[in-house]
Amino acid sequence: MLRIGYGFDSHEFKPGIPLIIGGVRLQHTHGLGGHSDGDLLLHAITDALLGAVAAPDIGALFPPSDPKWKGADSSVFLAEALRRVHEAGYRICNLDTTLVMAAPKIGPHAQAIRDRVAELMGVEPSAVGIKAKTPEGLGVDNAAQCHAVVLLIK
Ligand SMILES: [Zn+2]
Repeated sequence: MLRIGYGFDSHEFKPGIPLIIGGVRLQHTHGLGGHSDGDLLLHAITDALLGAVAAPDIGALFPPSDPKWKGADSSVFLAEALRRVHEAGYRICNLDTTLVMAAPKIGPHAQAIRDRVAELMGVEPSAVGIKAKTPEGLGVDNAAQCHAVVLLIK
C-alpha cells in the first residue's frame, strides 16, 4: 500500500540570526525567524510525513506558542514524524522538495543538504530531491517558502 504526503512552510528572513536549511547552516546575512530554528525544509518534510499518515500537523504537535520549542532543533520534529510513520507500518520510498527564496543560492549547498536530510531520515541520498527556485514575480523576497512531497510504502 502506498501513501502520499504534502507539506508547505514559509518563514520570514530576519537579520543577524543563523540560516539553517535541512539541518545545514548556510552563510548569509539573514536567517529565518519564527518557530524553532526556522528550518523550513525540515518543517515542510515533517508536515508531509505527518499528512501521509493522517497525523496532526507540526503546529498542532509542536505549538509555536510553546516556549519549549523556541530555538529548537527541527530534527526533533522530523524524528517524531518518522516515529509515527514507522509506527503506522510504513517506510519512505522517496521525497521531493522545492525551496522558493531570493537568496542565498541553494545550488552550491544542495548536495550537503541532500546528504544531511537523507541521514536524518534514514534513506539513501538518491531518494531525496532538493530543488530551489527564486520567487520571480511574487514580491516575497523577505521570505522563504518550501514545498515537500513524500511517498510511503507498507
Ligand atoms: Zn516552519
